[in-house]
Amino acid sequence: MATLTIPKVHKNFINGEWVEARSGKAFENRNPANTDDCIGMFPLATEEDVNAAVEAAKEAYKHWRLVPAPKRAEILFRAAEILVKRKEDFARDMTREMGKILAETRGDVQEAIDMTYYMAGEGRRQFGQTTPSELPNKFAMCIRQPLGVCSMITPWNFPMAIPSWKIMPALILGNTVVVKPASDTPHSLYNLVQALTEAGIPRGVVNLVTGSGGKVGGPMMAHKEVKLVSFTGSTEIGRAVSQACATDFKPCQLEMGGKNMIMVMDDANLELAVDGCIWGGFGTTGQRCTATSRVAVHKKVYKEFVEHYTARAKALKVGDGMDPTTEMGPCVSESQLKTVMEYVQIGKNEGAKLAAGGHRLEGGAYAKGWFHEPTIFVDCDPKSRLMQEEIFGPVVSVTAVDDLDQAIEVCNGTVYGLSSSIYTRNVNNAFRAMRDVHTGIVYVNAPTIGAETHMPFGGVKQTGNGHREAAVACLDFYSEWKTLYIDYSDRLQRAQIDTGAFGATGE
Ligand code: NAP
Repeated sequence: MATLTIPKVHKNFINGEWVEARSGKAFENRNPANTDDCIGMFPLATEEDVNAAVEAAKEAYKHWRLVPAPKRAEILFRAAEILVKRKEDFARDMTREMGKILAETRGDVQEAIDMTYYMAGEGRRQFGQTTPSELPNKFAMCIRQPLGVCSMITPWNFPMAIPSWKIMPALILGNTVVVKPASDTPHSLYNLVQALTEAGIPRGVVNLVTGSGGKVGGPMMAHKEVKLVSFTGSTEIGRAVSQACATDFKPCQLEMGGKNMIMVMDDANLELAVDGCIWGGFGTTGQRCTATSRVAVHKKVYKEFVEHYTARAKALKVGDGMDPTTEMGPCVSESQLKTVMEYVQIGKNEGAKLAAGGHRLEGGAYAKGWFHEPTIFVDCDPKSRLMQEEIFGPVVSVTAVDDLDQAIEVCNGTVYGLSSSIYTRNVNNAFRAMRDVHTGIVYVNAPTIGAETHMPFGGVKQTGNGHREAAVACLDFYSEWKTLYIDYSDRLQRAQIDTGAFGATGE
């Protein structure tokens, strides 16, 4: 039976107030498991709203940058406590708007909690360096400085965790924020911002603007007062972000597409490898940037692996993520489902063998949602589109390899480089893979998914542009080093020239 709800009307958060879009227009947020269920209406913002948000953030920056970092941390700490208290509600909101199963949306909120506590801790760290000067009676050190207003454009697959990876480090370092959610999942970011407001974030320090990528994202990058842009999304839009930022040399952080691969060696624990390929391939309905979309299996165990893997995939229970027995939810939207269906057709046309799934799920409990079967193609050509292009859905392509060398070659043979994994019980294989695969993240005997917030996260090649999110590494993006020299010799000392001209004491 359809869920009847009165859609709640949400607002943008600008300069400490919840306000409607200046256009007066709004867009719907619907449940991908049941499109009769309208979760809420969100403002369809335009450039005017972005300008107001950036102005507010610019004004707030004057004060926020001077608040001692441990005091900023107290607000983050309180926000984390609020997230802990509301974890279940926020997870349910997320499953309803995004579709992934409750266990996973609890994990998404938990990741935001972890990140918020972690960055609160950075309030008392943010360590710089002090080092001896090459000159006597001179002191040298460097400190982190915020940049100012940061624009953040975020995707729908981790609608609370990913914004938290960006917002929390920016704030603890003294920046102010304008953030935009993906239009498919605005509610989870709304919940995160709500937690920050309740925790006492000052007016204008965090601003939330919802609306289309072009109309809101464009001005968020172009505004002259925006000093930095952090983007997570597709490689196609990431390229546009990079080009937009190049005009004013704005630092931009790009976390983009992936085509992640698991290598299964002939000495692997096969059952464990199948477990990993199921979770990596079909967790979050394959819609993780780190999702396992390719598997290369040693020819000696290929047949056995394929038998077990396809049997397990066929047995997965697909349905509404709110049902605790569901193992895989719907695709996030109709367009994402269409992409999946297109790639299934591409796979068939390319001659890959469909071994499991391959169809949209329709009728009955699936009638109102964007459901697709967990799908496995086998005997795939590593150079085919199926094994080269990001699908971002529950489709895994399997291929046989002769040995580790070939597995690594296949793994490295795409334009992407986010995550990879090897299943082996041979330490030599494991270390060779860790050294030779060209991805930002490598797992051994675990699937390609499962990042932890205190470890650097990011990809190489066309997945990223060299920055890292999370961990201490993320502080480097949201701050600039300022180097300070303090000369207390009371005379002109020339670096590189006067060194050694004085005695050991400098007198
Ligand atoms: P997307 O279409 O690129 O959208 C990402 C964000 O960019 C959304 O907020 C979107 O707004 C906005 N946007 C769209 N067009 C824009 C434009 N012209 N200018 C500025 N902003 C614009 O990606 P998605 O479909 O949301 O997410 C899936 C992709 O994200 C996949 O490729 C996945 O691999 C990648 N991803 C990567 C990572 C990583 O860490 N490497 C993590 C998660 C996801 P609208 O929603 O309003 O269109």
